[in-house]
Amino acid sequence: MILIRKKSLGVSGNGISSGGHRFGIGDSLMICLGIEGTAHTFGIGIVDSTGRVLANATRTYFPEQGGIHPREAAQFHAAQARAVLDEALKTAQIELGDVDLVAFSQGPGLGPVLRTAATAARALAVWLGVPIIGVNHCVAHIEIGRLTEGARDPVTLYVSGGNTQVIAFDAGRYRVFGETIDIPIGNCLDAFAREVGIPHPGGPAVERLAREGRNYIPLPYVVKGMDLSFSGLMTEAVRRYREGADIKDLCYSLQETAFAALVEVTERAVAHTEKREVMLTGGVAANNRLREMLKQMAEEHRAKFFVPPKEFCGDQGAMIAWNGILAYRSGYRQSLRETEVRQRWRTDEVEVTWRRS
Ligand code: AMP
Ligand code: MG
Repeated sequence: MILIRKKSLGVSGNGISSGGHRFGIGDSLMICLGIEGTAHTFGIGIVDSTGRVLANATRTYFPEQGGIHPREAAQFHAAQARAVLDEALKTAQIELGDVDLVAFSQGPGLGPVLRTAATAARALAVWLGVPIIGVNHCVAHIEIGRLTEGARDPVTLYVSGGNTQVIAFDAGRYRVFGETIDIPIGNCLDAFAREVGIPHPGGPAVERLAREGRNYIPLPYVVKGMDLSFSGLMTEAVRRYREGADIKDLCYSLQETAFAALVEVTERAVAHTEKREVMLTGGVAANNRLREMLKQMAEEHRAKFFVPPKEFCGDQGAMIAWNGILAYRSGYRQSLRETEVRQRWRTDEVEVTWRRS
């Protein structure tokens, strides 16, 4: 049985504080519990309205073979939910009754996975009698990056297993300046790795092997306008492997080709918007070569370069909780009926009610 008792909100947890996100006098401190569930990671984050991250517990499902199986991932999330909730509450040193708001990842993502997180969020909000807010997963990545890094208005390259987008704020929305038209970059690296016998997730192993690659093997470089394509690149890299090409050279060439395309599109967004900040986030942001290439481009444009700590680049609940607070504090409200999941919810469909510029 979980205790529901309001206790006085002391300063607890080992979180970070933004400093720059104070709300108006008279706004009381509020605590938001955010549930993330869009792909392989289930997470619960607890964040307060000053931007302090009190807890950020996660569990990640790894498929035994092949890519993510949506129903298996959803079952894993459901089975882990209680343990993740307990861990988050314990770390934050709060009780469920201290939660003032529940936020959850409403989309985009895998249907069964989204529905599991949404069901948990609805149950908690109804049981606690607190408001609920559905958050866009991609927008939440940007907002947690702005919070933890102090970036004000970056052009963001968001690269993960399920998404690849170049995003910048303009006129009330996060506009997508460029995106993949087929597979995301993380998926490209994972699928290539799988085909050559490297277990999931392949990205980190590809990075290690690439460091020892010496010879560039030409691979398809596809940028169409501002959009990117990685499936031909992945297929060709696999074909070259089967022909006997060296795996280290192939990993090196795959990274150089794919990352150059990502940097090209991000650079054009920076040149067009004239923004002075560039941010890299998502699981693939762990890659040192991509960081190096993007940083160099940012410096050439005299833009500041930001990469949130690894914990906040990957999928987690703190970003959902923080976005929930931003939306709620800007006056946004949602009825239970409006919490239906949105599998294909686009970044640029979100009305960013908490930002003016
Ligand atoms: P996410 O979808 O945000 O959970 O991130 C997972 C993705 O990040 C997977 O596709 C991983 O292969 C990828 N990834 C993790 N570490 C690295 C790395 N060092 N280099 C490239 N990709 C990585
Ligand atoms: Mg993500």
